[in-house]
Amino acid sequence: MGSGGDRPRFIVDSMLGDLARWLRILGYDTLYYRNAPDPRIVKVALEQGRIIVTRDRGLAILARKRGARYVLVRGERIEEVLAEVAAATGIALYADPSRSRCPLCNGPLRHVNRHEVKDRVPPEVYARYEDFWVCTRCGQVYWRGSHWRMIEETLAKARQLVDRVAERMKSPRLRLAVEKSER
Ligand SMILES: [Zn+2]
Repeated sequence: MGSGGDRPRFIVDSMLGDLARWLRILGYDTLYYRNAPDPRIVKVALEQGRIIVTRDRGLAILARKRGARYVLVRGERIEEVLAEVAAATGIALYADPSRSRCPLCNGPLRHVNRHEVKDRVPPEVYARYEDFWVCTRCGQVYWRGSHWRMIEETLAKARQLVDRVAERMKSPRLRLAVEKSER
């Protein structure tokens, strides 16, 4: 939790809302605008030092022209896309809820005394789980429910793909994206 220090921060294009939620779960400050024009995304990235993640070659070209850092992703499945971002930027594909941000609003989460959320979660959930987190921005309550296993399985698959994806990124078409990201 906390400000995140020099951890990379991201802004993802409107086609990658799913990725935005995953990057937040991984603890990376990630903006996602549903309908922002490309120049606005590039402007915010430059102003705030964010890495653009996009599927859109047009946006990637504009980012390159203006000197913004970007990753152009091609994968279809979320584990492929996560692996591409990790290969290009070096982010760690491990989720730790005490470092996560709210997948809904990007707010930092706070680990709370479970009594604080007693009236805000179903009784069976309250009885079963010890650890709860609350979004400091929107108030959403989180716990490591049954979906957490799916999250960890997906991340494990993504980690297995990173080396292969990194190899593929050595192709001339993608090298530039990687170099920009490492600047
Ligand atoms: Zn929130």
